[in-house]
Amino acid sequence: MSIAENVQRLKNELPAEVTLVAVSKTKPVSHILQAYEVGHRVFGENKVQEMVQKWEALPKDIQWHMIGHLQRNKVKYMAHFVDLIHGVDSLKLLLEIDKRARQHQRTIDCLLQVHIAKEETKFGLDVEELHQLLSSNTFQKMENIRVVGLMGMATFTQDRVQIKKEFGLLKDLFDQLRRTIPNMHVLSMGMSADYDLAIAEGSTMVRVGSKIFGARDSVTPK
Ligand SMILES: *Cc1c(COP(=O)(O)O)cnc(C)c1O
Repeated sequence: MSIAENVQRLKNELPAEVTLVAVSKTKPVSHILQAYEVGHRVFGENKVQEMVQKWEALPKDIQWHMIGHLQRNKVKYMAHFVDLIHGVDSLKLLLEIDKRARQHQRTIDCLLQVHIAKEETKFGLDVEELHQLLSSNTFQKMENIRVVGLMGMATFTQDRVQIKKEFGLLKDLFDQLRRTIPNMHVLSMGMSADYDLAIAEGSTMVRVGSKIFGARDSVTPK
C-alpha cells in the first residue's frame, strides 16, 4: 500500500467529525507530499526544528501540529505558523506561547496534555494540576492563546481494556470541562495502534504515523 492509499483508506474509515493528523516525524518531505497530493493538509511533528524545515520546504496551506513535548525556548521558532500545539503541560509554557503569539499578532490554539497512562514517564498534567491551571488568574488573562481541548496518551500496553479505561477517563474530564470552558471542542487521543478504541471513547482527533507512513527507522528520542 502506498502512502496515498493509506491516507485515503483511513479517511474513509474515520467518522467525518474526527480529524486525522498525519504524523510525519522522521519522514522526508517527499513522503509528506504524497499525502498532500491526495488532499491531506494536517500533519504532526514532534520536534520543532524538523517541523520548521518542513514548513519552509512545503506548500503553505499545510496545517502543522506540534505533538511532542515542547521546550519553552523553542516556541519562538514556530510561533508564526504553528496551527495547534498538542502537548502543553504547564502554565509557564502557555505564558511563553502567549507572548510569542502576541509578537506575531495572532492567537495560537493549544491542547492541554493530561497524564492518563500508568507509566511515570509520560508527560502531562494530573487532574488537579489541570484544574489549578484553568482556574488561575494568569491563565484567564492570556489573550493570545486559546485552549481548545485536551490531549492524552494511553499506557504503552497490549491490554486493550486498560487503554479503553484511560481514554474513557480523559473523555469524562473533557465533557466536564466543556460545560464551563468556552472553545473546548478538541479531544486528541488515539495513535496507529489504538485509534479505534479512542474513537469509540469519543476522540475527535487522532494522531496516526506508522499506519500511514510505515515504521519509523529510529524512535530514539533526543
Ligand atoms: C509518534 C507519535 C504519534 C504517532 O504514533 P504512531 O504509533 O506511529 O501512529 C502520535 N502521537 C504522538 C505524541 C507521537 O509522538
